[in-house]
Amino acid sequence: MRVAAIEGGGTKFLAAVGNSNTITGRYTRIATTTPKETFSLLLDYLRTQYKNEPFSAIGIGSFGPLGVDPHSGNYGVIGPTTKPHWSQVSYPEALGEFQVPLAITTDVNAAALAEATSGAGRGCKRVIYVTVGTGIGGGFVVNGQLSHGQFHPEMGHMRVTIHPDDPMPDGFCHFHGNCLEGLACGPAIEKRWRGHLGTLDENHLGVKLQAYYLAQMCVNLLLTMTPDAIILGGGVMQTPSLLPKIRRELQKLMNHYLPQHSSDAAVNALIKAPTYAPSAGLIGAALLAEGLR
Ligand code: ZN
Repeated sequence: MRVAAIEGGGTKFLAAVGNSNTITGRYTRIATTTPKETFSLLLDYLRTQYKNEPFSAIGIGSFGPLGVDPHSGNYGVIGPTTKPHWSQVSYPEALGEFQVPLAITTDVNAAALAEATSGAGRGCKRVIYVTVGTGIGGGFVVNGQLSHGQFHPEMGHMRVTIHPDDPMPDGFCHFHGNCLEGLACGPAIEKRWRGHLGTLDENHLGVKLQAYYLAQMCVNLLLTMTPDAIILGGGVMQTPSLLPKIRRELQKLMNHYLPQHSSDAAVNALIKAPTYAPSAGLIGAALLAEGLR
């Protein structure tokens, strides 16, 4: 099945035509500027592809907030965002000329679907994917389907216990101050330590705090949603010592409460690195489009 896939990010749009196995082989990259300029370039690309050989559906994984309920009037419409000119931009309106079905979700959800289907969560029934970067966001996939209601999960804004040694306990979130994202997103780390996490020594307090906060998130997700895998991606997670530290901190916080998640091997299988970064969103968008059959 030949489909078009779009990953709409805050800094760049990626688009490709093919199927979910081949889609990352060749894609076009467009800078995210104004909606008019970005969509003009995107449509040029898609029109050329369509003329060459038509595609039968379009899958979209976009930055949000975004309407993700197909039965709602705001499906595929970007909600209030601090990104100038992008609030109320409608994907169905922008892509209507192709007259093919659209499957629209967030970029994080699309990445979650890709990782759950054929990436690090392959073979697991319940998979959570979290990206830790400019913000913190997560998607939840159950039996191969994205799970959400009228709005997509907002895992990044959960509350966590503040570490007593945190020099910036008030956090950074515009809405909540010291929610998880306010404490542990990339800009919060940079504000607190004046540099990326990757530049700090692995024994630096900054890495310890990061593991402490993200382990609390994993504990909360594990206890509420009973996932088989929690996949942690995004720029901040590229700090090599972070993933093992999160696993050990999770064991400490859980304190053998769930025996099946107590051993090192079990925790290593539960808390994982992604397979597809950075193209997971594009693969997920293709999978969504293919699912419209
Ligand atoms: Zn928040």
